[in-house]
Amino acid sequence: MQQQPHNGRRKFIANTIKGTAAVTIAMAGGSSLLESCAGPKTMMIPASFNTSFDQQLLPYTYNALENVIDAQTMEIHYSKHAAAYSKALKEAAVAEAVAAGTTVETILGKINSFSVKMRNNAGGHYNHEMFWQSMKSKTPDNKPAGTLLTGIEKSFGSFAAFKTQFTDAGKNRFGSGWAWLYIDNTKALKIGSTPNQDNPLMNVGDIKGFPLLGLDVWEHAYYLKYQNKRADYIENWWNVVNWDYVQKRFSAV
Ligand code: MN
Repeated sequence: MQQQPHNGRRKFIANTIKGTAAVTIAMAGGSSLLESCAGPKTMMIPASFNTSFDQQLLPYTYNALENVIDAQTMEIHYSKHAAAYSKALKEAAVAEAVAAGTTVETILGKINSFSVKMRNNAGGHYNHEMFWQSMKSKTPDNKPAGTLLTGIEKSFGSFAAFKTQFTDAGKNRFGSGWAWLYIDNTKALKIGSTPNQDNPLMNVGDIKGFPLLGLDVWEHAYYLKYQNKRADYIENWWNVVNWDYVQKRFSAV
């Protein structure tokens, strides 16, 4: 990992190349940079899951996950917290001369080249955009199927053992952060957690790979309904995981 050339190249793109052709070069450069930056140790990110800087519409109503996540929490979380990450990400992108068309994933892959504001808000925006999609209305006996279930059973012993390990990752994250199921550079399924709004796509931190499922364990995600009882929030959250969406991410890599 060589930070300096990336910094230099980013500034070069931002400062010296103008116009449509330059944008094309910048985008192609960003993509190959991501690959070469990561070297053989990081996988490609499926283009079908590229994330724009704007918030997508919530794929359900605020009260759709009631009994697990209350409508007021959902509304504040989506329209205040997550909206603020998107807004601040756009501000940082302007301030730091990010080329038009750059994806959030490209930024995350070289996040050490950017400011703390970018790290917090590119991460925060990405994590929440994924989080909304990875939930749906409460479903009895909710669990994955197909190749994802097989992969989880092979990697963690059983779905129950996976849930326990993932739950522990969320419960044991001190302060604010996320628990993750992700695919690492060897295409192995892994569980981990990150502080603040970091995630496995960032080229910093302990865990790296493509995230399949993330759980927000910031207090703002659960405090109105669960107060200090994070474990109860996590236990209930398993009922609303959209395993079809997780399977799509798994199948794409
Ligand atoms: Mn959140």
